[in-house]
Amino acid sequence: MRKYLFILLAAVLPLLAVAQVGVVRLRTENLESPLGIYTATPRLSWMSVSGKNNTVQTSYHIIVASSEEKAQHCEGDLWDSGEVPSAEQLWIPYAGKTLKSNQRAWWRVRITTNKGKSDWSDIATFGIGLLSESQWGSRWIGLERLMPGEATGLHSRLAARYLRKEFQLKKEVKRATAYISGLGLYELYINGQRIGNQVLAPVPTDYRRSVMYNAFDVTEALRQDANAVGVILGNGRMFPMRQNKPYKTPVFGFPKCRFEMIVEYADGSTEKIRSDEKWKVTADGPIRANNEYDGEVYDARMVLGAWTLPGYDDSQWLNAERTDIPTGELRGQMTSNMAIVDKKRPCRVTTHNGRTIVDFGQNMAGWVTVRVHGAKGDTLRFRFAEKLDADGGLYTANLRDAQCEDLYICNGSENDVLWHPTFVYHGFRYVEAPAGYSADDFTAQIISDQMEVSGRFSCSDTILNKIYHNAVWGIQSNYKGMPIDCPQRNERQPWLGDRTAGSLGESYVFDNERLYSKWMRDICESQRADGCIPDVAPAFWNYYSDDVTWPAALPFSCDMLWEQYGNLQPIRDSYPYIAKWLNHIISEYSRDDIVGHDKYGDWCVPPERLELIHSQDPDRITDGDLISTAYTIRVMQLMSKFATLLGNDDAPQWNERAQKMTKAFNRRFLVCKPGTSQVPGHPLYPDSIYYGNNTATSNLLPLAFGLVEPQYRDEVVKNVVTNIITRNNGMVSCGVIGISWLLRTLSDNGFSDVANLLATNKKYPSWGYMVENGATTIWELWNGDKADPAMNSANHVMLLGDLLPWSYEYLGGIRRGVPGYRKIILKPDFTIQDNFGADVSYHTPYGQVASKYTKTLEHVDWTVEIPCNTTADVYLPDGTIKQIGSGKYHFDVDIPTASPAILDDEFVYEHASFPQCHASTILELPNGDLLSSYFGGLHENNPDVC
Ligand code: BGC
Repeated sequence: MRKYLFILLAAVLPLLAVAQVGVVRLRTENLESPLGIYTATPRLSWMSVSGKNNTVQTSYHIIVASSEEKAQHCEGDLWDSGEVPSAEQLWIPYAGKTLKSNQRAWWRVRITTNKGKSDWSDIATFGIGLLSESQWGSRWIGLERLMPGEATGLHSRLAARYLRKEFQLKKEVKRATAYISGLGLYELYINGQRIGNQVLAPVPTDYRRSVMYNAFDVTEALRQDANAVGVILGNGRMFPMRQNKPYKTPVFGFPKCRFEMIVEYADGSTEKIRSDEKWKVTADGPIRANNEYDGEVYDARMVLGAWTLPGYDDSQWLNAERTDIPTGELRGQMTSNMAIVDKKRPCRVTTHNGRTIVDFGQNMAGWVTVRVHGAKGDTLRFRFAEKLDADGGLYTANLRDAQCEDLYICNGSENDVLWHPTFVYHGFRYVEAPAGYSADDFTAQIISDQMEVSGRFSCSDTILNKIYHNAVWGIQSNYKGMPIDCPQRNERQPWLGDRTAGSLGESYVFDNERLYSKWMRDICESQRADGCIPDVAPAFWNYYSDDVTWPAALPFSCDMLWEQYGNLQPIRDSYPYIAKWLNHIISEYSRDDIVGHDKYGDWCVPPERLELIHSQDPDRITDGDLISTAYTIRVMQLMSKFATLLGNDDAPQWNERAQKMTKAFNRRFLVCKPGTSQVPGHPLYPDSIYYGNNTATSNLLPLAFGLVEPQYRDEVVKNVVTNIITRNNGMVSCGVIGISWLLRTLSDNGFSDVANLLATNKKYPSWGYMVENGATTIWELWNGDKADPAMNSANHVMLLGDLLPWSYEYLGGIRRGVPGYRKIILKPDFTIQDNFGADVSYHTPYGQVASKYTKTLEHVDWTVEIPCNTTADVYLPDGTIKQIGSGKYHFDVDIPTASPAILDDEFVYEHASFPQCHASTILELPNGDLLSSYFGGLHENNPDVC
């Protein structure tokens, strides 16, 4: 089950009854008591709690001990920081005695605050991994060849490899740590016990660059005398799903495993159990095939019995083979594995052509546990899909050639056997099963990266609340040790562009710091020698297209990690890679400071015909050079910021380059035709000053990136608004690029009502339209219900754009004052007339920030809360700003009569309830005439608007 960060405070309240101040949530590298840490200087963080308002940490004292007993006695024999006068509580680097491979440490912290001193915290622990490859004495083993019935080619097919070894332990074991790298995927067993709750581990990487190992404390699983270790290996991305295009999909090799267990005896001696050719292997176990796209084949007639226990007869097994050695660096994995994070029971069962159709009521990613029954040799087929077709069968056209099915072959002795596959997951809402199965036979298990839920959001608009629900399920579905595009069709790739803006929004929903820190490294590792960064990283698809917007996910997400979590390391590590990439792009594609290379454009704008995937209408398509140049400038701006943060001396250079390019951008793309209008005589089209071909996106990018000269700003803003309100009937008109900036830019320029209109719309195209048409996640296309199935996933997150940041920051009013949230700004946009309240909380690295209000036209009733060691500026609707320290506060404030925002002499923007329309935000001439006549006309021509 997902952990909710909010529960934490309730747990520590009793503690506060004794001491007024406490320290909780100790983290090492932002992980809870991790093992296998791949650095000798891990960073430590904690959270403080207090029974009193305005609590600020004034100093801290950390002790790190070599044993739990020493930690209990607060003896920091490894590190005693002493009292450090500081308010820092995040990412404090360990600075004690040198830590060695396989070393365990126990640590505590005590803080002093302006409200008193805390007790010593509970003890947290961490274990250092094997810090260099020379620490590994074991061998990579497996079965380095195809066995009968196995195949490469279009639908690759390989049975799972089962490896085992028995060993004796002669003495009393004090502690044992198992290190395992099982590629592509592994399950580890010791003496019949499954080790860990992870599934589909380890996280995927480009095995030519990095290979992850996991570490487990296995002391409790061991016995004195006879022991057995067993490993099952699945394909994962090592032996990829499609192998018919080697130029596109790298095949890394056959599944393989390296295992190193360090047993520390009570007498101080150690022993190592290592994978080598003395292990046994078989491919004749029950998992006959496992392929992430196609599914798993399980033959229960081939179950191996008690093969993970000692005393098993493995005489028919083969000797394990030494395999190819993956060239990637063997690294301790410092991000969580996937696990079963939630469960769902069916909500409806129907039949179709004699087969059972199970509806779980929610699109998701994971697998289904089935209570299997059948006669010996019966093949049970379970097929998965996101949708049903018109006659109630599975709709699979959008899965392309992914077979998405699990087969179970009965051995006839199934009696209440609960089965699920091991090395695959599916993206689905519906399962088709054989006849005779009922709802009781199925439980869906949702598989995603283990991470805490960081935010909660609800507001007065039910559609937006449903969209939020869909966003949460979409994000969860697409975290698979890397952020992927979709979990169902034959793709499931870590496309960069889908997350360029998405990573920020997602961080409000899930504590995704570890995942994105890992992914930043994946992206850097994928850089080609010439500087090119691919569009998919790890480069499981070989797409080095020299696009700008997709690789921009690297600097944007590094920035997110700094801003949301205060973690500077990804910026530090990625800086040289980003610099090299930018220089490459500029030297290859920049002419006169215009970057003339863009592959994807404003990907997936609402097309002119509903069956289309991509628009062909030049009026909807934003100039690619405008997009790539704007993004290059934005990345240069970020590089200037990063250089300053890192203390590099090239900050001014990046700045100068950005400014020079901005001048060129304006020279080239700003259209300035005083006195002209696109629709002559029409007062709503006075678009004499606009960017590119005046799409919403072409005006949004220069606004969002600060490229517009002040004298043109209002005009450019107005173009975005008129584009939405008049040309698009109050509907969204952007693809992935524009949508990333749309709502925040509207709000930042006084058009929160338009932003809210877009966020709460139900007509096509909008997020609400998806909800109204049965979506339980977010679609890949605005027209996902009608478009060609060739590229049409129902579980994609890229079109979320900046909806989530806008919802938390503008509607909820929780905003960052400084990176990491030591300083907070509480500033809901109370001017949004159609919003009557919100209840939003977000777990910052310091603890929970909450903002809950109800609002009428005259009054706001608002409760806020900020955590210890932070302060906030609270923006009240009457214009006053209050400074608060930690604690909970309540404000009851009257809203002064609103004065409409003046756009210019000619246009007045104001709020009005338009009776027949959901939309309540319109443009109006000062005399009011235009309002009714214009909307009347709009009505007749576009019945869809209301
Ligand atoms: C993916 C997208 C991706 C795009 C770029 C699609 O097939 O699903 O999410 O960003 O391709 O080409």
